[in-house]
Amino acid sequence: MPFSVKHRPLHRWRSILPWLVGALPIACGLLVMHLQATRELQSRSEASAQRVASQIERILDNASRAARVLLPLAGQPCEDEKLALREQVTRRAFVRSTNLEYRGELYCSSLFGPYSEPVNGHDYFKGVLWLMDGNSVTPGHPLLVYRITEGDRGAISTVDGDHLIDALHLLDEDDHLSLQVGPHWMSQDGKVRTGTPPPAELAATSVTSSYYPFTIQGGYEQGKVGKLMRSEYPVLFALMVVLGAMAAVTCYWQLRRASSPRVELQRALEAGEFIPYFQPVVRQGDYRWSGVEVLMRWQHPREGLVSPDLFIPYAEHSGQIVPMTRQLIARTAEVLAPHADLMDDNFHVAFNITADHCQDMALLDDCRTFLAAFPEGRVLLTLELTERKLINATEATHALFAGLHELGVMIALDDFGTGQSSLAYLRQFQVDYLKIDQSFVSMIGGDALSLHILDSIIELSSKLGLGIVAEGVENEAQRDYLNRHNVDFQQGYLFARPMSAEAFIQALKAQDLVQVANH
Ligand code: C2E
Ligand code: CA
Ligand code: CA
Repeated sequence: MPFSVKHRPLHRWRSILPWLVGALPIACGLLVMHLQATRELQSRSEASAQRVASQIERILDNASRAARVLLPLAGQPCEDEKLALREQVTRRAFVRSTNLEYRGELYCSSLFGPYSEPVNGHDYFKGVLWLMDGNSVTPGHPLLVYRITEGDRGAISTVDGDHLIDALHLLDEDDHLSLQVGPHWMSQDGKVRTGTPPPAELAATSVTSSYYPFTIQGGYEQGKVGKLMRSEYPVLFALMVVLGAMAAVTCYWQLRRASSPRVELQRALEAGEFIPYFQPVVRQGDYRWSGVEVLMRWQHPREGLVSPDLFIPYAEHSGQIVPMTRQLIARTAEVLAPHADLMDDNFHVAFNITADHCQDMALLDDCRTFLAAFPEGRVLLTLELTERKLINATEATHALFAGLHELGVMIALDDFGTGQSSLAYLRQFQVDYLKIDQSFVSMIGGDALSLHILDSIIELSSKLGLGIVAEGVENEAQRDYLNRHNVDFQQGYLFARPMSAEAFIQALKAQDLVQVANH
């Protein structure tokens, strides 16, 4: 069937589409979740940097307070003031040491008492803060030094790097935070480096303190988005998967429905894609066209012209053959009636009918309408019955056949001899013609036994007073044999193949011209 005459790319597309439709909500959901997570991380990163900056400001507030208290003492003898220095270390949280500076020299320290070390103001960023990579007491251990000056006097307090490391680890362990003071910066591992920290891969942020000259840089590694999505949105994700699966199943179901043979045939019926093809039937003797068998073709939009063997069996099985044939009969009347004058009187027009039609009195109306389209006596309508589906001889069928005969419709038994019920059919329905199946015709020229069967069929029909049509006549030997045995009509490729309505009418016209010329 054309619905199974597969159009490969289309078929592949159909099997991919449900997956795409299923993946779409998941992909969209993931995208939205990704955007949401990125935004969330940006604000988290800003909040973290802000909180760490506030914590370091709090630490520096202590260092600054200690230095302010001590500044007025700078220039006084160290021995007098060293206790005051130590008191500030004790009283102020985070302050590790305090020192006094006078005229560019650090001369008094809470650690050592009197001391001497030159102070270089340029070491301090904006003259205030110096992030050191250790000093003589704790080399390699970070230290933040706070300094205030007034004229020749200065006070210096130091903060242990451990407090800074704690501050940088204050929040989410995935936060990548660093402290930048002028040309130096310190990462969470407590290493002090020169330069600027590399920007974070994700949600890079930077907060500069408004009170002290330092900046906190923050952000995350790239993998943090996925981590956040997994931890924060598992329910949403599960919902998306369910939605995706539902969309995929719905799409699959719709596609299946749309591509089911029944739907496809119905669509074709509504689109008028079933068209009549015509194969002439010739009479004995002069082989003039004396009739035609109407054969259905499916003019499929993608597959082209489809042979009936591919769709009639299904249409018969589904019962759709009934409306299809009704349409075929009506279309045939439409195309042939305007050219009725080209046909001989009693021109046979034969349609193939299946058992389903015989339960339906509507067939009678269809035949009546068909005949009414032609001048009286111009066409002889014939219905060919096959044995593919058995006709139940009910009251309805008897009434139908009686009605058909009254209308002058002929009944032919198609493919005669191939089924088991042929003889029963002959008895039950008033059959007018037998159509000898092409398998018997092809026996002509074969062995004697086969010919004997053919001869018996011909003899039987003449004894029963039935007309006889031989189909599948392909060569002259068959034609001549059948002619010699008084077979009334012949049909086959030797005379003509089934053809479109236009070709058939053209051929009828040509035959008419020949006849006119002969007279
Ligand atoms: P069928 O009724 O026996 O029709 C004759 C088939 O034999 C046609 O095939 C015709 O093309 C083919 N044929 C004619 N002459 C020769 C020949 O010399 N040699 C060979 N090898 N074949 C020949 P088609 O048109 O393919 O139809 C096949 C079958 O489909 C028909 O067999 C008929 O049973 C069914 N069919 C066609 N149209 C209709 C229809 O409108 N309704 C129903 N129910 N069945 C149909
Ligand atoms: Ca037939
Ligand atoms: Ca046949």
